[in-house]
Amino acid sequence: MNNKNNRIINRLEWIREGFILTPEIYKSMIKGFKQECEHGLNTPSASGLATMIPSYVTRLPTGHETGTYLALDIGGSTLRVCAVELLGQGQVNVTEVKHLITDTLRSSTTIVFFDWIADTIAELYALLPEETRDETSPPLAMGVSWSFPLDQTGISKGTILRMGKGFTLAGIDGQDLATLFLEAFKRKNIRVIVTAIINDTIGAMVAHAYSNPQTRVGFIYGTGVNAAYAEKVSRIIKLNIAEWQEDSGTEMLLNTEIDIFGNESYLPITRFDRALDANHAQPGFQPYEKMMSGAYLGELTRLVAMDLIHEKELFEGHIPLLLNTPWSFLTAHMSEIEKFPKNNFQYIISHITKLLQFMDGYQPNENDIHIFLDICCMVSTRAAGLAAAAMIAIIEQQTFEPNDAIVIGVNGTTFEMYPRMPERIHKALEQWYGEEKAKRIQLEVARDGGSIGAALVAMLYQEVPSSIQS
Ligand code: BGC
Ligand code: MG
Repeated sequence: MNNKNNRIINRLEWIREGFILTPEIYKSMIKGFKQECEHGLNTPSASGLATMIPSYVTRLPTGHETGTYLALDIGGSTLRVCAVELLGQGQVNVTEVKHLITDTLRSSTTIVFFDWIADTIAELYALLPEETRDETSPPLAMGVSWSFPLDQTGISKGTILRMGKGFTLAGIDGQDLATLFLEAFKRKNIRVIVTAIINDTIGAMVAHAYSNPQTRVGFIYGTGVNAAYAEKVSRIIKLNIAEWQEDSGTEMLLNTEIDIFGNESYLPITRFDRALDANHAQPGFQPYEKMMSGAYLGELTRLVAMDLIHEKELFEGHIPLLLNTPWSFLTAHMSEIEKFPKNNFQYIISHITKLLQFMDGYQPNENDIHIFLDICCMVSTRAAGLAAAAMIAIIEQQTFEPNDAIVIGVNGTTFEMYPRMPERIHKALEQWYGEEKAKRIQLEVARDGGSIGAALVAMLYQEVPSSIQS
């Protein structure tokens, strides 16, 4: 290998050092996460950046429930409204209307946005059997899965905290979510009542518990990241304990908002993470999420690649169109690239070349492509390790019988669509627990967690006992 190639390897190796999660780093991350969990359990939610948010959900479904409930699942990219028919035996039948959330909507006003939601519910309504729509029948109960931080104060109540995921709705911070729905439904004459509001992680956990009662963690790994688990009410210090005293043995599902966790003292933050954060609309917000979720992996990869390009150590310094603009290289592109069959390298070269678009006609060589593939893999493998670290911390918040299976219901595109993501996460769990012990941890896909979970909680809390209402 000539000198130049040596330099290429060295610079990439040097960058890689910052991306490798050593056992010491795992140890520090898990400790850091656990400390933030304890802090969150003790600190009232209404302090701006809330974590360890009580869901007020203290029951899980048994899998035998039946009936039809409405659900609304709103996330970073999609709004879905569904009628979920619970068939018992963990089975469901779903009728849904789904719309993408446009950038225009994301940056509109609260009223415009909620009117649009109400219109979407009206669309679903039109698909339901006539007897359901009858003006004389009682309004339908709806559960809402809200994939953003919410300072929850009751099963169907909560104050909207900073939204993230590119939302800049005028006038939304600090609003009561249930009231926003109620008013929009009034304006649009929609006969629906919101009986439950949950975070999407709670949805994933509840929905997965409906099909597998051994579920102990609900995890979202898509555009964003987050986790939920059941915590002893007596440990949720910030809940008004007196009110819950007779229930002190009870467990309540908690939305950790682990996405917001993290700082330089325990996360292996690199200069690329710092550069991404500095160019983000909400710098400093969600440091952990920014290192590993679907919204960011593409940009992190782009930043590493650009560093090597600027040093003329990748693509001989030629900048392709797709890497030239911040945020234009997506996690979906990485996913496509990592999916290529490794046995046909010419095919990989031509696909990556076409995807990246060298306007000056530069033809990447094999070495370029190896480096580029390597960067994608390095960023996504660290992401898997970071996901595992959060899972371990949440597992260690709980106590288990030695032989209990620990099922983690995971929902989200990064987990489901990114090549080998579940295997990579499990590998990281094995590194921590050892192969034998890690076997009891089962990562399972919790599909449609938000909508099914919201319908289930709407059902479980249809008649909310007064002691649970805040
Ligand atoms: C939000 C969480 C949500 C997670 C997964 C994060 O950005 O703050 O509330 O659960 O994404 O969708
Ligand atoms: Mg979602």
